[in-house]
Amino acid sequence: MKSILVTGGAGFIGSHTVVSLINSGYTPIIVDDFRNANKTVVQGLKKLVEQDLLIYQVDVCDKSKMNEIFEKHVFEGVIHFAAYKAVGESVDFPLKYYHNNLNSLMVVLECMKKHAVDKLVFSSSCTVYGEPKDLKEVDEQTPKVQANSPYGNTKCISEEIIQDYHAAWPMLKAVNLRYFNPVGAHSSALIGEYPIGKPNNLLPYVTQTAIGKLEELTVFGNDYPTKDGTCIRDYIHVMDLANAHVKAISFLEKQESSCCEVINVGTGKGTSVLELITLFESKTGQKLNWSFGPRRSGDVTEIYANVSKAKKILSWEASYSIADALIHAWEWEKKINSK
Ligand code: UDP
Repeated sequence: MKSILVTGGAGFIGSHTVVSLINSGYTPIIVDDFRNANKTVVQGLKKLVEQDLLIYQVDVCDKSKMNEIFEKHVFEGVIHFAAYKAVGESVDFPLKYYHNNLNSLMVVLECMKKHAVDKLVFSSSCTVYGEPKDLKEVDEQTPKVQANSPYGNTKCISEEIIQDYHAAWPMLKAVNLRYFNPVGAHSSALIGEYPIGKPNNLLPYVTQTAIGKLEELTVFGNDYPTKDGTCIRDYIHVMDLANAHVKAISFLEKQESSCCEVINVGTGKGTSVLELITLFESKTGQKLNWSFGPRRSGDVTEIYANVSKAKKILSWEASYSIADALIHAWEWEKKINSK
């Protein structure tokens, strides 16, 4: 069985990707130092995949330990998730973000070259597009803009590092997946998102408010130029996103020559904050305590993915609805609060 190194494999998207990899016959080998992941997720993960998992508790920035791991295994490819992701925190602690997110990528690339592992799938983000000008649907040709946070900038720079490394080491086959807004949980409710501290993202804030952990959800802004005045995003179920990674690995396996692709991963559909709240209430029967607050600085008004490229080159498209994602996220929230 082919082994895939999954950095950040105990995190939200990483853990769901581990499930997809196993379902597709790969052996995931996880590197995660648990600074932003919860060990409960690993217990749920093992139960879900009905097997033990090989997990190295290692910081991906630690080059000598990463080299040891590359020496022990023959990897077919690497899926590199491990990174900090809180936009607001990155504004307060930019060096923390540049240091961790860029060094970890460089260590991964160096180890890959040294050990002749030529396939990389990288977690990028639609944040590289910034605020779309006229057309709110962005494709991969849409120009990247100056990032509006150090976090976003690490994603822009990381894509450039991969591009430059591909030019210098033509064996490299890479796919940068530009995620839109990952939401939901596995339908088993055995794994899901486990925010440490107060969540930054909308859906965990919604579920934690609904369960009573948080008092009230603030909807950031009601005067955007959209149908209901709230921002519009492309929310993608985390299991669909996970499957896109496996499709990206199998795409890379089929490539005879080197490549470096960027591919959007979304549903192609925009949903406003108010639509998401209304749908959550109707699908779960929970009344949500929310009110409008001021705009959050740095938020774009509206963005959603053009997903033609993913369909064409990965033969991938989203299969879950946003309603599925809301129900699964709610089931997960109930589960982690039932203990
Ligand atoms: N949002 C909100 N209240 C919250 C968190 C988020 O109104 O407590 C809004 C946010 O302004 C944006 C959308 O929800 O319009 C998605 O935000 P999130 O942080 O989940 O993702 P982003 O698209 O900013 O990366």
